[in-house]
Amino acid sequence: MEAARAEAGPDATIVGVIGSPVTHSLSPLLHNSAFAALGLGSWRSYPFDVPLGRTQQALDAMRRADLTGLSVTMPHKRPVAALVDELSEVARRLDAVNCVHRLDDALYGTNTDGEGFVSSLLRGADFDPAGRRCLVAGAGGAARAVVLALTRADAASVAVVNRTHDRAVEAAVLAGNRGTVVPNESKAVADAVMSADLVVNATPLGMSGVDRIDSDASPPWLVPPSLLGSGQVAADLVYVPRPTPWLRQASARGATVLDGLGMLVHQAAAQLIIWTGAEPPLRAMWRAAETAHPFEA
Ligand code: NAP
Repeated sequence: MEAARAEAGPDATIVGVIGSPVTHSLSPLLHNSAFAALGLGSWRSYPFDVPLGRTQQALDAMRRADLTGLSVTMPHKRPVAALVDELSEVARRLDAVNCVHRLDDALYGTNTDGEGFVSSLLRGADFDPAGRRCLVAGAGGAARAVVLALTRADAASVAVVNRTHDRAVEAAVLAGNRGTVVPNESKAVADAVMSADLVVNATPLGMSGVDRIDSDASPPWLVPPSLLGSGQVAADLVYVPRPTPWLRQASARGATVLDGLGMLVHQAAAQLIIWTGAEPPLRAMWRAAETAHPFEA
């Protein structure tokens, strides 16, 4: 971070992303596109590769190099939550931070992943979760953010299905008395899908480089896309490839589909509001994101 400060100069306002690996992160591109569109010529965003176990050192460096904000990705979301001076209610409930804002020497941590997901649902699929029945496949960090955000957006119910039952229980707790756990077996899942308005794939299944799955294969989806149909929204948090095999199949069955690029753009937009106080230039951010990850028809 000191090197970034030296490069950008003493008058620059610097933000960045910490993670490992971080080379694939679109965050600096999204931030810098937004700064350019907003005319914030002295603002810069940089990627910082910070290995697991070096989170405290990264936050110390943030103070030393006078950085204004950090976007936080794996594996630092949980460690940062334990190290900042103040946590938002959402970050406290998730025990995970994806955004740090430095004010003087105090670090404030929050989490914009879930809010980004709900914004992308509204804008990308015209879907308002209020009063709707939701089913989330997966119970990792992203799924937990989605469960909490859907609950805060007044979803009628949020059901969770996961490979590891105990983690499903922990995620469903975030939805309070509207949360339920669906056993990971075909009849229970089929029943849950039938009564859902929204189904979310919050696992990495289908992501390039993790589990590349051909569209016509039958991989071990937690929610088989063949169960989905018209009148339902299928949202995948994965955005590489676009569309994912799960979304291709759901779309072929008539579901309205949404990939994870919108969540990425909107969680970054929410971070920009925290750091700059300005209205984020969504069009410029979308253009940058879609140039990096075009939709393959
Ligand atoms: P994570 O914490 O590692 O959780 C992964 C989840 O997927 C767990 O519930 C895990 O089940 C399940 N899973 C993994 N492999 C599986 C398999 N072979 N079969 C069945 N279930 C499996 O990961 P995460 O941070 O939540 O991220 C999940 C996905 O969301 C990733 O692809 C990530 O890139 C994406 N994401 C997108 C955005 C965005 O802005 N679009 C933001 C965050 C994350 P167990 O609990 O049984 O291990």
